[in-house]
Amino acid sequence: MKKLLLPFLFCFLSVLSKAQYGEYDTVKAGPPFKIFDNLYYVGNDFVSSYLLVTDEGLVLLDATYGKYPVHILQSVKELGFDPMQIKYIFCTHAHYDHFEGADTLQKITHARVGMTDYDWKVADGTIYNEYASKTVKMKRDWTINDGDSLKLGNNVLHFYVTPGHTPGVLSLAFKVYDGKKSYTAFMFGGIGQNFTGVKQTQLYLNSVNRLLKMKNLSVNITNHPGAGNIFEKAEKLKNRKPNTQHPFVDAKGFKEWLLGLKKDALKKLKLEHKKSQMASQLKETNI
Ligand SMILES: [Zn+2]
Repeated sequence: MKKLLLPFLFCFLSVLSKAQYGEYDTVKAGPPFKIFDNLYYVGNDFVSSYLLVTDEGLVLLDATYGKYPVHILQSVKELGFDPMQIKYIFCTHAHYDHFEGADTLQKITHARVGMTDYDWKVADGTIYNEYASKTVKMKRDWTINDGDSLKLGNNVLHFYVTPGHTPGVLSLAFKVYDGKKSYTAFMFGGIGQNFTGVKQTQLYLNSVNRLLKMKNLSVNITNHPGAGNIFEKAEKLKNRKPNTQHPFVDAKGFKEWLLGLKKDALKKLKLEHKKSQMASQLKETNI
């Protein structure tokens, strides 16, 4: 049944993808790769999806979109795991590229899908968002709140609501293992500053400041590979010599990265204040 279903879905979703994303969708879904003993990359070259392996089932972090959920399932299989063991799918936010694939993935695997309250409202169509999926409306499944956690055997997923990119961005922290060593990996669910308004920018800035105060963050797992040089680090990992530092473990680099986001957000905040002042002056002049 599963064998028959995958190729059919692949064809169907390819047609769907062309219709929605245009003939010139140049996104490439490459082979999956291992990052840590319990973490694998199963996304494409535009948007990430990570497979976290736990004693109590497989977890997917972000679901991609269009035809790519099928690529995720094929990748999971290629890595030697059973896609039907995917028990949880957590989506960082309800923009189509991170969330849309959750619908297909849930239909096949029956996994629980977790997202924050605000972004579920985007996902089910209650709230309009220009980057919401044009083809998928999904009924709310599991609502994640700030401070929630999920224990899965020897790992615990910690959830944070870090608004800015959307008002409900979900970020996650969990342990990754490199032989006998373990590190705290963190996925900031809303990196891009492609939003407008003073309020939203201030929220983003608050979220980045909150992350800057967090201790022990040493592995930056970004939800777009380009935002965290995931492929460059993977290349270094391939050529890593024994007993040397894991290229994804970089607490200093993580902090510098966050400080870079903060700098951009402060610049944006000034600009948004100016825009808002100009808008109110214009309003007054018209009166
Ligand atoms: Zn987004």
